[in-house]
Amino acid sequence: MASDALYRRVLLKISGEGLMGPQAYGLDPATLDRVAGEVESVRALGVEVGIVIGGGNIFRGVKGAANGMERAAADNVGMLATVINALSLQNALERRGVATRVQSAVTMPTVCESFIRRRAIRHLEKGRVVIFAGGTGNPFFTTDTAAALRGVEMGCDALLKATQVDGVYSADPKKDPGAVRYDHLTFDEALARNLAVMDTAAIALCRENRMPIVVFDLHRPGAFAQVITGQGRYTTIEN
Ligand code: UDP
Repeated sequence: MASDALYRRVLLKISGEGLMGPQAYGLDPATLDRVAGEVESVRALGVEVGIVIGGGNIFRGVKGAANGMERAAADNVGMLATVINALSLQNALERRGVATRVQSAVTMPTVCESFIRRRAIRHLEKGRVVIFAGGTGNPFFTTDTAAALRGVEMGCDALLKATQVDGVYSADPKKDPGAVRYDHLTFDEALARNLAVMDTAAIALCRENRMPIVVFDLHRPGAFAQVITGQGRYTTIEN
């Protein structure tokens, strides 16, 4: 590990929207390539990287249910959306020469590996980026919870949540000009103030297992590597 990296192994959570770029739906090739470049630069620091990817750019179970679908069926569709994103990000990473494996919680052996914890750890140890697809594999969960779960299972030093803003604010900074940005929060503060960081199940899992969450802006070039070296703007949430 490079001496200036704060972490040995991290779990990066990217929402589906983070891959959408300027489009209103789906995947933007230029954005995929840029995100792949961010991951490549962190690998170059010697840090092991696991990624959990969302599916909201394609399908969300809650929205499907609101339109009349059975919730569990809609969530299964949402989980498949995360596989589409995972395979696309894998392709973008491998075009840059970054070795990757996709492991899905929803078994799909003709397109990717199935999630096997010990095998995933071995991939990370070998320097491969592991992209975890299919969320937790269960309906009624989110990919934020999947990120907390995989992060803990992989023994990650931190969960890095890439968002659309540079940290956690007291209110939505895009709507409220008086919103205050926090540098540091405890898990209890994040829960008590009902701050929109991650869902409660994800925060509780991180708190229980003492895995810090770092919230940063995916859209600022170089931000991922900066978080790894303790530079730039971000919010850390810990015990
Ligand atoms: N999903 C699920 N179980 C999981 C993770 C995800 O059923 O463990 C489904 C759920 O329908 C969700 C969709 O997959 O709406 C996409 O995930 P999410 O909304 O978390 O993606 P993001 O908001 O990060 O893009």
